[in-house]
Amino acid sequence: MDCLFCRIVNGEIPSRRVYEDEQIVAFADVAPQAPTHVLVVPRRHVGSLDDLRDPALAGRLLTVAAEVAATLGLGAGYRVVVNTGPDGGQTVGHLHLHVLGGRQMTWPPG
Ligand code: 5GP
Ligand code: ZN
Repeated sequence: MDCLFCRIVNGEIPSRRVYEDEQIVAFADVAPQAPTHVLVVPRRHVGSLDDLRDPALAGRLLTVAAEVAATLGLGAGYRVVVNTGPDGGQTVGHLHLHVLGGRQMTWPPG
């Protein structure tokens, strides 16, 4: 399978990593939509939130998102987004949590 984020996880494609452990990698988004924009992904291929079905990994992903936000100085707040499927705006078919911060977010999202 040719998956962009699997290739980033295994180091074939370079990225600016901000966190990694045995299950999870977090790296800077190549096209940041906020002063801080990080993607938190599982090392194993999971196509989308619909395919996750793993409460322990889901919890780890959210916990790492919060830890990364704290490490990157987002104490004033941040947003975690999981675009899912075509209507959700998902463009890369490997589950990822967007962590966005460093500016005032608006609501509703586009
Ligand atoms: P989605 O649209 O699926 O929610 O998010 C995919 C994200 O991946 C986008 O924010 C996009 O900028 C980012 N992205 C796409 N290709 C690359 C890449 O090669 N490297 C990195 N670091 N991010 C990428
Ligand atoms: Zn993948």
